[in-house]
Amino acid sequence: MTNRQTPLRGVLFIGAHPDDETVMAGGTLAMLHQRGISTFIACATDGRGGESGGVPEVQTLTDLARLRQRELTCAADALGAASVTLFGYEDPVIGPDETLYGFAADENVFVDQIADLIRLKDVDVVLSHGTDGEYGHPAHIQVNRAVRRAVREHTPDVLFYSIAARVPGVEDRIWNVSDPAHFALDISPWFDAKHAAMICHRTQYELFKRRRKLKTVGEAVRTLESFHRHWPDTSGALPDDAFAALLLAAGASSPPR
Ligand SMILES: [Zn+2]
Repeated sequence: MTNRQTPLRGVLFIGAHPDDETVMAGGTLAMLHQRGISTFIACATDGRGGESGGVPEVQTLTDLARLRQRELTCAADALGAASVTLFGYEDPVIGPDETLYGFAADENVFVDQIADLIRLKDVDVVLSHGTDGEYGHPAHIQVNRAVRRAVREHTPDVLFYSIAARVPGVEDRIWNVSDPAHFALDISPWFDAKHAAMICHRTQYELFKRRRKLKTVGEAVRTLESFHRHWPDTSGALPDDAFAALLLAAGASSPPR
């Protein structure tokens, strides 16, 4: 178990789609890299079911999957991540009225894959989606559930923090209502790296802007990133571990819960 005196070996972000790493944790990943901590990114699906953003070279779902893989690699470079792992699950196409779907996976297999990756990368912290899948995305909820199981059943010495934890007094459609933030970090000092990573996700520009009626990708960069520790259970106390210490040293606050 990491305590606050033990330096972190590494942090693994596990997202459902290419761009989740950047939108919800890009500033924090850049901060960790700047402080010499190894970061790794994993992505459950190939992103083929998302929007193509009118990018002309995308003619087929396979084209989109390939391009989004390159966009993710570009973003990982911008954030200083040491590697990108693609689990390669097929991302279901968004339905009518923007209906979102989970992906077809045997949960036991997916849980084993996650545990194997945690061991392979030798990390002590996992970051992933929240209980409510942020804005309720079924694939995000699916990843949250699998990561929880992987950590609890296979790698219990690892810390699991979720992203987009609810910060009282701040409105954001991505907050997980069930996960009160233990820490909220103003990522302004790492804005440029996060912005560069957002710029990598060319197929998603329109989506980034449309949801909040913004004009530029720069305006779509969230400057507040927040985290809730799921594992080990905090029993209501404020976490006191090496990741918490790093966040606090980077200027994070602990919102009232
Ligand atoms: Zn996503």
